Amino acid sequence: MARFNTQLVHGEPVNDNDTRAVNPPIYNSSTFAFESVDAMPRWDYARSGNPTREYLERQIAQLEHGTRGFAFASGLAAIHAVLSIFQPGNRIVAGDNVYGGSYSQLNEHFNRWGLEVTSADTRVLEDVERAVAGDPKRGIQPAKAVYFETVTNPLLKVNDVHAIAEIAHRYGTIVIVDNTFVTPYLQNPLDLGADIVLHSATKYLAGHSDVIAGLVVVKDEQIGQRVYFAQNRLGGVLAPVECDSVRKGIQTLALRLERQQENAADVAKYLLAHPLVKKVYYPGLTDGEDLAAKGLRGAGGVLSFEVVDGIDPVDVLDNLRLFRLAVSLGAVESLAELPCRMTHFELPREERLRVGITDELIRLAIGIEDVADLKEDLGQAFEKASEKHSDKWNDAITEDALA
Ligand SMILES: *Cc1c(COP(=O)(O)O)cnc(C)c1O
Repeated sequence: MARFNTQLVHGEPVNDNDTRAVNPPIYNSSTFAFESVDAMPRWDYARSGNPTREYLERQIAQLEHGTRGFAFASGLAAIHAVLSIFQPGNRIVAGDNVYGGSYSQLNEHFNRWGLEVTSADTRVLEDVERAVAGDPKRGIQPAKAVYFETVTNPLLKVNDVHAIAEIAHRYGTIVIVDNTFVTPYLQNPLDLGADIVLHSATKYLAGHSDVIAGLVVVKDEQIGQRVYFAQNRLGGVLAPVECDSVRKGIQTLALRLERQQENAADVAKYLLAHPLVKKVYYPGLTDGEDLAAKGLRGAGGVLSFEVVDGIDPVDVLDNLRLFRLAVSLGAVESLAELPCRMTHFELPREERLRVGITDELIRLAIGIEDVADLKEDLGQAFEKASEKHSDKWNDAITEDALA
């Protein structure tokens, strides 16, 4: 069987044409003709399935070691379809610092449709067990699912998929893992016991900030049928052209992530030594054994840090030239953002501070540029922010003196 890098490039043929084209064709057709009324074609209507989407769905299923893959119009559409397999009254345990949009979908949409959401710190296994078990004597049934991210955003805390899955399965609870931040290059949650793995393919898988997409992979055939029903009946499918963008992105996933990780580790060390930086969050800074114990083959390309008191993180961000000030991550270019105002504003402030997302926290998504340029850019932005800080300080002294 082909190995990982070979799989990235070649995928699995869908056998949908005999032109010997090297790339799978993009079929821009919403419908496919029957040969006769009795001869139902393999694909009949493009929402239900089409060869371009099937290529991508097989590709991600192979990479995530699952049996069936599904492509959606966005990461949130993928999450919507997955959570739609449950019933009103079912309880879902969700990690306490999942992606803001996922938090909002759970607590502002699915809540209204009768799903109960229990939040838990998924790094504390006793908390996970308490939340999953519920309290049947008081009428709180075990959770139907536990939902969390491999590595949390933006603090990059590593969850132990294997340990969480072991607890969940004792209660018959389905394990759903958002693997967006690490991708199958760095971890395969299904191998560690997860039942469903999903991605915002917008990020590392597509990798070029040019497409919004979501992917889901399952192990179990019955769960697969339920996800397929949601994909086909809710209809949040990914268009053929965009399936092809994601396919092409996936081909270079390993090369990109290798460079991104190398750069991220270098930037993390630079920040750690910088006098204007109070704290750096990057799982690659601790010893690799901890990551390996949790089934991770690397620390990924996202990191975050807090500036020291007195420095305004906005002054750092507004003065970056090479890093683009933008949400999202996982693409070839480096991005920077302020979680409290840009990606995590959906979280109520108290909840945000409780999970450690402070007002000083800056998140960097590292790209594949020359790392020396990235460090230089940060350096000059820090200098400008610090000049502004000392200007303010001098003004304050002068005002005091004149008062
Ligand atoms: C971006 C993101 C999502 C949402 O995906 P979209 O493609 O933007 O809908 C979900 N989970 C994580 C971890 C993300 O980073």
